[in-house]
Amino acid sequence: MLAVLVAARLLGWPEWRGWAGVAALWLAAIAALVLAPGSALARLIGGDARVWGLAGGVVALGLGYRLLLRQLHRRAIPLPDPPAPAPAGPLSDPELDRYARHIVLRELGGPGQAALRRARVLVVGAGGLGAPVCLYLAAAGVGRITVADDDRVGLSNLQRQVIFRSADDGRPKAEAARDAMLALNPHVEVTALNRRIGAEDAALVAEHDLVLDGTDSFAARSAVNAACIAAGVPLVAGAIAQWEGQVTIWDPRNGAPCMACIFPDAPATGLAPACAEAGVVGPLPGVIGSLMALEAIKLIARAGAPLRGRMLIFDGLYGENRLMKIARRADCPACGSGHFRAG
Ligand SMILES: [Zn+2]
Repeated sequence: MLAVLVAARLLGWPEWRGWAGVAALWLAAIAALVLAPGSALARLIGGDARVWGLAGGVVALGLGYRLLLRQLHRRAIPLPDPPAPAPAGPLSDPELDRYARHIVLRELGGPGQAALRRARVLVVGAGGLGAPVCLYLAAAGVGRITVADDDRVGLSNLQRQVIFRSADDGRPKAEAARDAMLALNPHVEVTALNRRIGAEDAALVAEHDLVLDGTDSFAARSAVNAACIAAGVPLVAGAIAQWEGQVTIWDPRNGAPCMACIFPDAPATGLAPACAEAGVVGPLPGVIGSLMALEAIKLIARAGAPLRGRMLIFDGLYGENRLMKIARRADCPACGSGHFRAG
């Protein structure tokens, strides 16, 4: 039988159409074995109909699995081209000059600055919070920055999104932010992604040491939180509304809560309106975004005490700060037991 199949394949007979032809021959062989077991054809085929049926089933299962893998592969979101490796070796003279105020800091110094250059950071959202985050991370010499945003620059953004210029009106935000960062510091590498980051982006997140989220909806933030939990990457999160903002580090792998530990459910409609509806005072994202960049630098350089398990709440209208202790929940729907062992 196998010889018949191979010969048919070599001769290109009959009207060979890939596996459909093999299946047709296989069915014909089984039919001959079942319907005319004593015939010359059955003797030529040889073997037992059950054995042939089982073999065909195994082959069909294998082919189905291959087809499924191919479909999954096609549906997977392609990763961006990996950026070129960060320059190795000691800091160059222009870099030593550029980062001089960092290098004299006891908590950073040369090793801290080298850690910043090695770091890979993903900035989700190039809006009000993303603007100072991107500018300060690039200025600080964070070696590889990926910035993701699916929006375009509009005139109403320019009141607070200080990374953009009037001439950027209408441009994709990720690309305009990338150009601004490269103009500020040619020693960093920036990848612009003109799309949102979703829960399915764990592989992309895992290519980074740290994520900073400045998106402005519960759904977007929950998706980033889920991707970071899956990738085991800490998430510096900031949020703003009107005159008040907050910042913390979601990091369940290191004992801190994730976003779903503290905010398991979406707020009721109208309770947490986006900036477009509620308004936001221009410098507020500057304050909170700068705090996010500061936390990122501390985490990368292992300096001081990062805001893990603590949430800083800033009230700009009354000039007040509050610090809240927040704890991880063992029964958290996103990071609770079963997802990974917390360190
Ligand atoms: Zn959690």
